[in-house]
Amino acid sequence: MTSVQSREAAALIGTYRRFPVEFVAGQGPWLTDADGARYLDFLSGLAVTSLGHAHPAVADAVAAQARRLVHTSNLYYTELQVRLAERLHATLGWVDAKAFFANSGAEANEAALKLARRHGKHQDPDKVEVVALSGSFHGRTLATLAVTGSPAKHEPFAPLGDWVTHVPYDDPDALDAAVGERTSAVLLEAVQGEGGVRVVPDAVWRAARSACDRVGALLVADEVQTGLGRLGAWYGWQTTRAEASAHGPPDAEPLPVVPDVVTLAKALANGLPIGAMIARGDGAKALGPGEHATTFGGGPVVCAAALAVLDTIEREGLVARAATLGALLASRLSALVDTAPLAAAVRGRGLLQALVLDRPVAAEVTAAALRRRLVVNCVAPDAVRLAPPFVIDEADVDEMATRLGAALADVSRETG
Ligand SMILES: *Cc1c(COP(=O)(O)O)cnc(C)c1O
Repeated sequence: MTSVQSREAAALIGTYRRFPVEFVAGQGPWLTDADGARYLDFLSGLAVTSLGHAHPAVADAVAAQARRLVHTSNLYYTELQVRLAERLHATLGWVDAKAFFANSGAEANEAALKLARRHGKHQDPDKVEVVALSGSFHGRTLATLAVTGSPAKHEPFAPLGDWVTHVPYDDPDALDAAVGERTSAVLLEAVQGEGGVRVVPDAVWRAARSACDRVGALLVADEVQTGLGRLGAWYGWQTTRAEASAHGPPDAEPLPVVPDVVTLAKALANGLPIGAMIARGDGAKALGPGEHATTFGGGPVVCAAALAVLDTIEREGLVARAATLGALLASRLSALVDTAPLAAAVRGRGLLQALVLDRPVAAEVTAAALRRRLVVNCVAPDAVRLAPPFVIDEADVDEMATRLGAALADVSRETG
């Protein structure tokens, strides 16, 4: 490790603060480091490898496509790109959906922001503004950084323009008041992942939906982290609840708040770089030829990988499995709150959960967990994030609880 650490310090721009571990192989929820030690992965990269490491269906799809054709550019047709779009539209249940493929979450959101701007400008040249939430995370490009609700991330690069308004993540009235005639989009996550695994209240989703309808803006769901089963539903927006319909039968299943645009990335190709922006209705018609493009986006290899991911999720019923395992994970974490030092509360949805601590030692707990060969991360000074792959079983959850309990005891002993 020391050798790679010192070579990296000389060779790479120092944008990452890394843990002193190099992983060289993985299998399901297990990772192996350069010394051969095995770690239980309850983070999945950053909520990326939902199918676990080295999934054979993805590996085979990538290898077969890499031997056939890797790249032609978007000057020509790619049937795999169309097939992937059709499959994603089916998971959304949107008959009029249209997709644009990019290479990352930030690029998917960048595409959504450009789409919203065109959609706005078709109504009024000044309709280019965006409302987003404090504590949100939408990416690191300049535009997606501007919508990210984190002053500390803005500060080194300010000014980022004055086209974004941030409102508290749990205040529907503030959101409604912030949306005006110049608003082109409201951007929401169902659960703020990087922002500390905070569930955005249904009332905020409802306020966003009605405010967007009031001014002709697009409601954009950033599902980069929450999409594709992570919350125990295909999409985070499907876990939201609109007001029960006044017209429907009283015992009807409550309907979710439906966005106009969703963005995807992280889990879509189980670790290969891909992003997608999917729009329905008028929004889907807002961008024309030449108005947006990417060299690599929607290339054959990543599309083949993403199709293998969707096949596997559907064939193995992994969305339902994520819901079941999520409940189990939350209950094991709650048991830690009852029995372990430092543990104060649990929050999250499905397989995106945080253990909230009673003091700001999440970084220390994360490091102690790593020494106990458990991979989790620190998303807030007092919150440890868990986002395991969907292929874990009950024994893995128990093993996680044992290791995390030991890490909490370690830190409690060290900090007195
Ligand atoms: C990770 C993330 C992004 C950015 O994705 P990148 O692939 O890192 O650009 C955007 N939005 C959300 C909600 C994310 O979790």
